[in-house]
Amino acid sequence: MSKEKNVIVIGCSRLGANLASHLSVLGRDVTIIDKNEIAFRKLSDDFSGYTFVGDAENIETLMEARVDKAHLVIAVTNKDNVNLMITEICSRIFKVEKVLCRLQDSSKEILCEQFNINFIDTSKLSVLEFEKVIGGLL
Ligand code: AMP
Repeated sequence: MSKEKNVIVIGCSRLGANLASHLSVLGRDVTIIDKNEIAFRKLSDDFSGYTFVGDAENIETLMEARVDKAHLVIAVTNKDNVNLMITEICSRIFKVEKVLCRLQDSSKEILCEQFNINFIDTSKLSVLEFEKVIGGLL
């Protein structure tokens, strides 16, 4: 398995499941981690990657899921602090080249900036998209 193609998605939320399926269809080797096995039901039929049950707050889970072999780690659990911690650990300890953190609380952006972590602020993004659809009236 080439490191370039190896992606780990953490949190099988709707967003995580869609991302994992999309990347899998694009030919990436995807592993998706969730602490709740039932969450994997959200994956579409065209997902051809691996599922890993575990709590990503535990460093052992990250080691067992071989984050050190990943080129990209995307943390999209429902908890900003967990996403931040995971991406920081993956970047600093496991030397993952690219990490991406989902935020829902815009006040945490400053932390990502301080730690040099790439982030997507999904609530802000939604507002911008709504605004685009209704023509900038928000
Ligand atoms: P949602 O609440 O739909 O945004 O989904 C968030 C997903 O992240 C759920 O499937 C949770 O089980 C998962 N999740 C939350 N915390 C962790 C964690 N520490 N490790 C792994 N998965 C998690």
